[in-house]
Amino acid sequence: MQTPVADISAVAATAADPAAKPAAAPRSLVGLTRAGLAEALRAIGVPEREIRMRAGQLWHWIYHHGVSDFSAMLNIAKGLRAILAQHYTLERPEIVAEQVSKDGTRKWLLRMPAAKPEEKGAEVECVYIPESDRGTLCVSSQVGCTLTCTFCHTGTQKLVRNLTTQEIVAQVVVARDRLGDFPGGTPPDDGIVPHGEGVRAVSNIVFMGMGEPLYNFDNVKDALGVLSDGEGLSLSKRRITVSTAGVVPQIAPLGDESGAMLAISLHATNDELRNKLVPLNKKYPIKELMEACRTYPGVSNARRITFEYVMLKGVNDSPAEARALVKLLKGIPAKINLIPFNPWPGTTYECSDWETIEKFSDIVFNAGYASPVRTPRGRDILAACGQLKSETEKLRARARLASE
Ligand code: SAH
Repeated sequence: MQTPVADISAVAATAADPAAKPAAAPRSLVGLTRAGLAEALRAIGVPEREIRMRAGQLWHWIYHHGVSDFSAMLNIAKGLRAILAQHYTLERPEIVAEQVSKDGTRKWLLRMPAAKPEEKGAEVECVYIPESDRGTLCVSSQVGCTLTCTFCHTGTQKLVRNLTTQEIVAQVVVARDRLGDFPGGTPPDDGIVPHGEGVRAVSNIVFMGMGEPLYNFDNVKDALGVLSDGEGLSLSKRRITVSTAGVVPQIAPLGDESGAMLAISLHATNDELRNKLVPLNKKYPIKELMEACRTYPGVSNARRITFEYVMLKGVNDSPAEARALVKLLKGIPAKINLIPFNPWPGTTYECSDWETIEKFSDIVFNAGYASPVRTPRGRDILAACGQLKSETEKLRARARLASE
């Protein structure tokens, strides 16, 4: 969490001495856990016996109704609403830029509220992918990434920092705002139907944006708790998938403590190649990774692990490798996602030909695996896998140059 203690004590000091100026910018309550809301209430002097009930009320207004104004919280007394508004906000991350793809995919560049007035909040990207039967939000868990997977654009940037629980949850809240997915909300008026009729705009969450979620385990775990709480955002855990490049020691705890669905970015079937594509493999080789999958808490044929496999021309796309993949996954309840490589400026990799992808997919399919080839979505706005953030930075740099 983002220094809650310091922030809260600053507010508490203000509460005790109304003349004192708050040292920090008023803090948003959006994205906090129940414990975080309780702390915030305590800090403004709400009596201990009321904390649970008041936190529950705030929770319902923020996450079920999605309100953005304390005055809408009708079952909270006017006086307390005023005090809340004095010390806190319901601010969401700011949508700095929105791009809408021809296929309905939306990419947002979000700026998080700053912790201090003189600071600039972190910027991350978040992608929304509508389909006829679901709407998937792809969220980021870190600003940048430390993993340096050679085919991933985000991997060429250095990590700036972990996102807080609040910043992870707030991505979902702002997406639901924008898509009109809270009760009484209005969908975007740009004529692009966001999702199938009768389907929640955001029905699924994938941690496949920027960053390695299992390197930010505690905050991701707490965020999963907020997202899946039935009295709030109410996303079923079966519809929340955490994707990892293979941080083996954190895989069992993820299953035990969160119950989320697991996806593994596999991409190769032998250590020699995987060491090159996903350098983390040198630390946690394939054998250990497969063992962690085989014993993933809660894994079953009804709760399969997704294996992501990016199709790189001449690198990992031969029929022999398809057969090796089938062999490797034997005994693990698995789904296989073949991802056509999304190129980015400066990469030496190319996407496999369609024929090759189909041949690969047939081998996997004939072995009994559902193996949908994931249609690249949002390529025209650089929202596809591995294309996040850096391009936005580049586009902005270009815009800056043009205006100089
Ligand atoms: N760090 C996590 C989550 C982020 S990556 C992980 O590695 O799983 C989300 C998915 O996009 C991963 O499977 C990743 O391997 C894939 N990916 C990254 N760059 C890509 C690219 N250029 N083309 C296609 N898929 C890519």
